[in-house]
Amino acid sequence: MLPLSRIVFASGNPGKIREVGDIFADLDISIVPQKEFAIEPPEETGTTFADNALLKARHASAKSGLPAMADDSGIVVDALGGRPGVWSARYAGERATDEQNVDKLLEELVDVRDEQRGGGFHCAAVLVFPERDVAPLTVEAVWRGKILRERLGEGGFGYDPVFLDPSSGKTGAQMTRAEKNSVSHRGKAFRELKNLLLTMRHEKQ
Ligand code: IMP
Repeated sequence: MLPLSRIVFASGNPGKIREVGDIFADLDISIVPQKEFAIEPPEETGTTFADNALLKARHASAKSGLPAMADDSGIVVDALGGRPGVWSARYAGERATDEQNVDKLLEELVDVRDEQRGGGFHCAAVLVFPERDVAPLTVEAVWRGKILRERLGEGGFGYDPVFLDPSSGKTGAQMTRAEKNSVSHRGKAFRELKNLLLTMRHEKQ
């Protein structure tokens, strides 16, 4: 059996840590945020979600000597030609808050008509093993929706208050964590990653 009791999660974002923690909660594997190993995040120099996720996971695995998982995600807005994309966290500036990023998005889209306000959250989720780094597991998923004109809801994080999920009619910030995980980019990507991991584990038994 693949010996696996701990996986380092290469993120300092409490929202992501909670969402991914929920997905792995039924396994006998602890998902440990990299902060607990005093690992500082690397510079995100990639130009795709997959590049950045791999870079973060490799960094955490190299520093801890343990398997590591990472997520790189962001919002891709149709009317902005795909921006802010991989730069979503830094959209309103290098150290921008979620609030500043959302304000900038609403401002940029102020003249965009309702039917042209489509976009999607993208997530690349990666799992690397220190001893089999040549074959990192990478999956990607998308959550399509619409960008509203004002914030709705108190939950979630990041762009959730202005992102409307068409199937439920709720924003990410109006959903429970379980509801969001059932449809979100991160929920879909990490469930697939978890299934790959379980398959590998089963094969090794
Ligand atoms: P990362 O930490 O470099 O992956 O940056 C992710 C950026 O995209 C941050 O600005 C997040 O707020 C935003 N983002 C990613 N996933 C979500 C989500 O599920 N809801 C809202 N914003 C998100």
